[in-house]
Amino acid sequence: VPATDSLQVPPPPRVPASALRLRRRFRRFLAAELAGTTAFDRAASWDGFDPDFSRRMGAAGYIGLSLPRAFGGHGRPLLERYIVFEEALVAGAPVGCHWFADRQSGPLIARYGSEAQKAAILPRLCRGELCFCIGMSEPGAGSDLAALRTEARPVAGGFIANGTKLWTTNAHRADYMIALMRTTPRDAAAGRHAGFSQFLVDLRSAGIGIRPVRDLHGREHFNEVTFTDCFLPADAVIGKAGDGWAQVTAELALERSGPERYLSCHVLLTELLRVLRGARDTRARVALGRAVAELVTLRTLSLGVAAQLAAGEDPQLTAAVVKDLGARFEQSLPALAQELVAVQPTLDAHADDFRRVLGSLMLVVPSFSLRGGSVEVLRGIIARGLGLRSGEESRDG
Ligand SMILES: Cc1cc2nc3c(=O)[nH]c(=O)nc-3n(C[C@H](O)[C@H](O)[C@H](O)COP(=O)(O)OP(=O)(O)OC[C@H]3O[C@@H](n4cnc5c(N)ncnc54)[C@H](O)[C@@H]3O)c2cc1C
Repeated sequence: VPATDSLQVPPPPRVPASALRLRRRFRRFLAAELAGTTAFDRAASWDGFDPDFSRRMGAAGYIGLSLPRAFGGHGRPLLERYIVFEEALVAGAPVGCHWFADRQSGPLIARYGSEAQKAAILPRLCRGELCFCIGMSEPGAGSDLAALRTEARPVAGGFIANGTKLWTTNAHRADYMIALMRTTPRDAAAGRHAGFSQFLVDLRSAGIGIRPVRDLHGREHFNEVTFTDCFLPADAVIGKAGDGWAQVTAELALERSGPERYLSCHVLLTELLRVLRGARDTRARVALGRAVAELVTLRTLSLGVAAQLAAGEDPQLTAAVVKDLGARFEQSLPALAQELVAVQPTLDAHADDFRRVLGSLMLVVPSFSLRGGSVEVLRGIIARGLGLRSGEESRDG
């Protein structure tokens, strides 16, 4: 095993007083907003979709926290953004309408977008008025993203797009997609990662079809999106045409490292603590203590990644570790709940909250080790980062 020091996660940063004040203020905002909701409502977390809530969050100054002031953002440190994301998830706020925009599309546009794109998009995004979706995966191109076949062929004034995106969360209710497409044909000499570009796609454009795909839960939140001779103007390219692969890799680090990778099931943990409060069962106490200790460890690791991002470092490796460990932790929670509390999980609207939260999350957690990069692929990235593996890189590794 070659010696390596590449998995050095910086110690978690000290949370500054300004962030603690922000946390208190945001908690008050959330408490007022979520008064009267059930644990079942809150368990939807970042899958919860409420455009009015997103607008109120934007109006109160909690979206685009780290984006530039010149474009409607708040210019605050990344750590404050982390605190807001964390509090929203712990509370189970319905952040789904603006989540992708705030987490990755806004920062991507701020970093690579043209001045015109920033002026047109960022102020509305920060007001919570825009919903974005992520157009990466395709049939036959999930883990191996570089195998994608949607092409945007250069024509006078822009590009003509043809192809299919798959598993596109919220495409049916989004305003824009950030899509990765091939703009020059694959060329063995240039390598399989050359020739991609990212586009800011207005989903009202002619030639776009959106068909829902129903999940295990019976919900329709992701979609198949087809492009049929869809014209994309030249100014829809984000960054530089041909640089799409480097940009999308940077975007994936934002997608993978945040608190949503270990707090998506948090309501189940708090429900378990509520149901078992006062129980004298030592086994339950030990198991819950272990779960909370694991949560605290994951948070420390994830805050370390936030510090790497803030320092301008590339956290690809550590983000993969957080995502892998976080998914495993979250997937273990429904089984732990069943082991400690003998109830039947259900989706029956008349059943008690705990059983409904359990029923709902049991159907959702299998996706945690797929969305944002599958477990096997993440472990490949980790192995490569530790110097244990070489070979060609796939989507996520
Ligand atoms: C709830 C949910 C929401 C999603 N939302 C979006 C979205 O909004 N936008 C978007 O672009 N995508 C989205 N995705 C797609 C997600 O990114 C892909 O599911 C993921 O990248 C895996 O790709 P795949 O489904 O094609 O599986 P595949 O790549 O076909 O993989 C299938 C299995 O084979 C394994 N495998 C594949 N390659 C290797 C390898 N080289 N070595 C070892 N094992 C391997 C994988 O680990 C996996 O277990 C979403 C997925 C889910 C579940």
